[in-house]
Amino acid sequence: MSSITTIPAVPDFNQFASDNYAGICPEAWQAMQDANRGFVPSYGDDAWTEQACQSIREFFATDCQVFFVFNGTAANSLALAALCHSYHSVICHEVAHIETDECGAPEFFSNGTKILLVHGEHGKLDLGAVEQAIIRRSDIHYPKPRVLSLTQATELGTVYTPQEIAAASRLARQHGLRVHMDGARFFNAVAALDIHPSEISWKAGVDVLCLGGAKNGMALGEAVVFFDQKLADEFEFRCKQAGQLASKMRFMSAPWIGMLESGAWLSNARQANSCARLLAQELSSIDGVRIMHTCQANSVFVEMPELAVNALRAEGWRFYSFIGAGGARFMCSWQTTEEDVRHLVEAVRKAFRE
Ligand SMILES: *Cc1c(COP(=O)(O)O)cnc(C)c1O
Repeated sequence: MSSITTIPAVPDFNQFASDNYAGICPEAWQAMQDANRGFVPSYGDDAWTEQACQSIREFFATDCQVFFVFNGTAANSLALAALCHSYHSVICHEVAHIETDECGAPEFFSNGTKILLVHGEHGKLDLGAVEQAIIRRSDIHYPKPRVLSLTQATELGTVYTPQEIAAASRLARQHGLRVHMDGARFFNAVAALDIHPSEISWKAGVDVLCLGGAKNGMALGEAVVFFDQKLADEFEFRCKQAGQLASKMRFMSAPWIGMLESGAWLSNARQANSCARLLAQELSSIDGVRIMHTCQANSVFVEMPELAVNALRAEGWRFYSFIGAGGARFMCSWQTTEEDVRHLVEAVRKAFRE
């Protein structure tokens, strides 16, 4: 028997670990299949990629420059590198993905741009602290603040309102900073706020958005969207140099057409969000469980006794936890069902009985 046939069709574990544990949604899969005929020019010089860029412009109802890269780390790092010189700094939240989960890629691709951390409740930047970080020093010995980076939805499952983003952008502008948005879960934020995507991007002052595809249901890929098109100057060279220019680009770009034109981006985000909301609601009714951050997107952070966390794990559940804090993160995806949620809730109740 060849080894591939021994890979189980259904995994032998239950999970709320990440939205990237989910598969490819039918609309993205279909679009890849549609793109799979005949010979097509390579490196993005093709009709699928052109159409995908156009779909993104229509989605945001504005002209913008769009680039497709393989993942979020590349999108963020290369976008930040495009905005900064090596002696600049990027201000972000202390739990921002660019700080905690990108292995120094933003610093690497910008040749040493420093990341300056700012606190803030529930994953959102405290603008007073941002201003302090900007004005603390203006001398030649300090890495000059150049970019304010926000994550939408945040790493802690909260969502910035359009007003909050606009206020952050105003502050950034006042001090000559550009605004970058890590939108790995941008679609979840749009679904949660029930507004037009422009309201939390270019209309609120965002210069460049890294728009996540993978966690929304695509196989892979993120779009780097420059609303300030001057900032995109020579960006294609950065992508190529970083090994981020797909030769068979159409398979990475075509799914964007499928997702945006079918509306799957929204139904997928809504499904993930509503599962998380249900989960938060159900878990909050269990004695000993505390919801740590208001559930506004597709994740639920809870504090519960370590014994219960361990019991859940022993039952085969996979999720992220934060060593020592007794916290657990449960992440929902487009593929999560209400039944999955009820199954987890039952397992948590049982973990408390053990
Ligand atoms: C998942 C994620 C990314 C992208 O991560 P990659 O693994 O590099 O694709 C970026 N930002 C946030 C907030 C994320 O959660």
